[in-house]
Amino acid sequence: MSTVEQIPFVDYLVLGERPHLLAHECSRCGARYFDRRNACAGCFSTEFASVDIATDGVLRAFTIVTFAAPGVDVPFVAGVVDCDGTSVRGNIVNCPPDPDHVTLGMAVRLTTWVVGADSNGVEAVNYGFEPA
Ligand SMILES: [Zn+2]
Repeated sequence: MSTVEQIPFVDYLVLGERPHLLAHECSRCGARYFDRRNACAGCFSTEFASVDIATDGVLRAFTIVTFAAPGVDVPFVAGVVDCDGTSVRGNIVNCPPDPDHVTLGMAVRLTTWVVGADSNGVEAVNYGFEPA
């Protein structure tokens, strides 16, 4: 029996037993970035360390997207989640995309799913947040 190979859809998603996000944290001022930076936008330091981001969070802002590019299923919920002090953008999934089910301040947790596979069966995995 072989295991299916998986690759993360974005660089900062770490897969495995406990999927989580990984940020670059400025060693001088503590600002966190998910993309790679040559220097901190806050203090210009060039020293960064990798930090694990909490997988539980609180929904701080969201919008229900009803128009999107062809092939993108709508409506969906795009959100900003406070993960123990770090602001993370991600879609809110596994609940109906309407204001009765998605509310500011709701508790959410990181979840992952397979978005597709290539001809060798290697799966791409994306992340979002679901009600906790
Ligand atoms: Zn900094």
